[in-house]
Amino acid sequence: MPDAPTDSDVHAPVTASDPIVGIDLGTTNSLVAHCTAAGPRLIAGPDGRTSLPSVVRIDPATGSPVAVGHAARDAAADHPADTIASFKRLMGRGLADVADDLDTLAYAVVEGPHDTARVKVGDHVLSPQEISAAVLAELRRRAEADLGVPVARAVITVPAYFDDAQRQATRDAGRLAGLDVRRIVNEPTAAALAYGLGERSAAPTTGPQRAGGVSLNVKVNPAACADDATGGDAPTSSPTQTIAVYDLGGGTFDVSILKLRQTDHGAVDQVLATDGDTRLGGDDLDRAMMDRIAPTPPASPADRQALRRCAEDAKIRLSTEDTAEVAVAAGGKTVRVTLTRADLDALADPLIDRTLAACTRALKNAGVTAADLDRVILVGGSTRIPRVRERVAEFFGTTPYTALNPDEVVALGAAVQGATLAGLRRDSVLLDVIPLSLGIETMGGAVAKLIVANTAIPARATERFSTYADGQTKVKIHVLQGERELVEDCRTLATFDLTGIPPMPAGLPKLVVTFLVDANGILSVQAREERSGRRAHVQVVPHHGLTRDEVAQMEADGFTHAREDMRRHRLIDLRLNARLDIRNITRQLERLGPDELEPDYRTQVEADVAAVRAFVDADDDAVDPDAFQAAMEAMDRGTLRLAEVNIAKTLKGPERGNAG
Ligand code: AMP
Repeated sequence: MPDAPTDSDVHAPVTASDPIVGIDLGTTNSLVAHCTAAGPRLIAGPDGRTSLPSVVRIDPATGSPVAVGHAARDAAADHPADTIASFKRLMGRGLADVADDLDTLAYAVVEGPHDTARVKVGDHVLSPQEISAAVLAELRRRAEADLGVPVARAVITVPAYFDDAQRQATRDAGRLAGLDVRRIVNEPTAAALAYGLGERSAAPTTGPQRAGGVSLNVKVNPAACADDATGGDAPTSSPTQTIAVYDLGGGTFDVSILKLRQTDHGAVDQVLATDGDTRLGGDDLDRAMMDRIAPTPPASPADRQALRRCAEDAKIRLSTEDTAEVAVAAGGKTVRVTLTRADLDALADPLIDRTLAACTRALKNAGVTAADLDRVILVGGSTRIPRVRERVAEFFGTTPYTALNPDEVVALGAAVQGATLAGLRRDSVLLDVIPLSLGIETMGGAVAKLIVANTAIPARATERFSTYADGQTKVKIHVLQGERELVEDCRTLATFDLTGIPPMPAGLPKLVVTFLVDANGILSVQAREERSGRRAHVQVVPHHGLTRDEVAQMEADGFTHAREDMRRHRLIDLRLNARLDIRNITRQLERLGPDELEPDYRTQVEADVAAVRAFVDADDDAVDPDAFQAAMEAMDRGTLRLAEVNIAKTLKGPERGNAG
């Protein structure tokens, strides 16, 4: 275990008075995030939503913005020529550069001074920077309202392929919005920073390591990662990490291969290659779904619009469900179609093929192979599609990182970079050992800990479980963090369902839950039912959202409550066993007629059961676990003969197999 860091090592001055926020200025949506010692977090607007559509309506009379975000997007159909969307495509470009995009834009684009593309609304000509500034200013207002202080500094992300003019235009947009743009960060780099990649100094396999100014003797456990559930991990992070970022959004696809390295001034990136397609994304899949649902497209624009919404909705449902029912109006009648996951996969495959072709080119141009990559990260809403995840994993030969929301990861990473520039030192020490125990909920609200606090990373643990109800086809896996014994006192990291378990009697399914914390501190949890081979998987970043102080508090709570927690955990276990035993005994009693069991003995057994049931039903506070256990033992002893009589009856037949 490492020496405890001193407070001054892990607590940076939290510069809440002059924060540097992170902004993902996207083609379709923009987001703002802020990072404290507890990690990065998105900032919501007054409507509670974190994403702000990158859409601005300009008043044709004045040339000033009159609506930004949802308000502008939702009324776009009424103001097609004044509503400016996709302006990111125009940033820092000349008219000739954007010729291909013009037919998709409903507003006028004209040539401005120095061969620049400008937007024309009414008689007013505006630069894309001015339009961007309206979105940035709105994000800035949201940040100020949330943080309660003026926000004058930001980190803004741009695609890795943006050239100097496009980057400069982005800086200028920030300035127009009253923001000092402290750094322009590549979107894929931001995604990597959100995962903490390149943030900590690299750990050698064994031996002392410096982190946060403290010499740490890190025990690394390379065996833990052999044959790992996330697809293999080098024993520890190497000094320079080579990372692929696969970003599939609504309208665009990018892949970037980059190297990330830690220096005294934070992470430094080198983009080795980028590739992609500015016209490939989830929208294409929506169109393919529309054709599949209604091969003859509806004539009315309203019906077409409804069909498009239905298609996207079905696509999104099929990411988590096996089938989706669709009913849409087309050609004067209602078309009903049931789509399956296999249908979606078949429609998605040709699009995924094109993305993987770009990945092949990018790897080649970067001069690396998939095996050289330390990590693959998924960004963009369309990477929620299971088929995309599957095929990307297969292509790169590793399970990609999906722990963070693919729509948010870039903004979160920009905030991490902002915090570093503001002088906030993250609790990097937390990443060398697992700071708080990790476990799952078991029946009755108790926590089974799979990995205990202070285990060196990487680490791996497996636990076997079964079902509690007959015919149970679904198991909810609730992943928790904390030192306490009960679910209500721990912190939820994730929940997910393992579905499709064939119906079997309780206790028969073999559930195996595997926890793996890799060298970057990312937790991946896999649940598998061994008889059927069904699996489900989730990833989380356990260290997000907690400060070092909170970790210390949770540790201390574990000690303070140890005795009471043990008592409650024991009661949960006793109750579970008691319920199973009572069910069993009741079945045995029901099976035997009056001539098969003496009435006095039956009465005695029933009294023993009633005594145990009283403990099961009593309030926690009123129960003495020792007395409970004694009653259970008395019931067990008292029913030995009942079990013998039942076995004898079974052996005699004829109703073989019905014993409980
Ligand atoms: P982005 O441009 O990154 O915001 O991604 C938006 C795209 O992601 C749209 O095409 C959405 O339909 C798609 N998308 C969002 N969530 C899901 C999901 N659960 N399954 C499939 N596609 C999704």
